Amino acid sequence: MKAIEEYVRSIPDFPEPGIIFRDVTSILQDAEGLHLAIDLMQEKLKDVEFDVVVGPESRGFIFGVPIAYNLHKPFIPIRKKGKLPCETVSVEYELEYGTATIEMHKDAIKPGQRVVIIDDLIATGGTNEAMVKLIEGLGGKVVKTVFLMELAGLNGRDRLEGYDVDAVITYP
Ligand code: 5GP
Repeated sequence: MKAIEEYVRSIPDFPEPGIIFRDVTSILQDAEGLHLAIDLMQEKLKDVEFDVVVGPESRGFIFGVPIAYNLHKPFIPIRKKGKLPCETVSVEYELEYGTATIEMHKDAIKPGQRVVIIDDLIATGGTNEAMVKLIEGLGGKVVKTVFLMELAGLNGRDRLEGYDVDAVITYP
């Protein structure tokens, strides 16, 4: 059996010179790779008690929904600004160039619910930090975040001090 790392295609100089892009599509397009990725992420939750899975558009959906389905939990999407039809809460956060806004339905999380965040990759941690703000703003408690990949050199964990953050694959 191949290790999960072997399914990840690394693309130098994408989207900019000097960046090594870790491609998830090479995992998804292989039936074994897809199974392994979901199973290994889900395993990180085996001792975690929680109520809901939250995942951001769009790769957080790919991994979050099967895990929520397998564990019989609800799935709550976080979307880019302007996509959700009902009343939302939103958070703006810094990108390398400019800002981004993410949103969640206001009634999606009830105060006191225990939340697991699922996403494909942590780089600077900015997206995750913004998601935590959204969830906590609604009274949810983030009990764990599971990533498939972590780019450790970008120190994303520093922004998430005090939170339980886990990744299946860690790149230096
Ligand atoms: P952060 O907010 O942690 O800096 O960025 C996280 C987001 O950037 C992830 O949700 C991911 O979609 C995207 N991202 C940044 N670098 C990479 C990469 O090398 N590969 C992939 N697949 N996504 C990346």
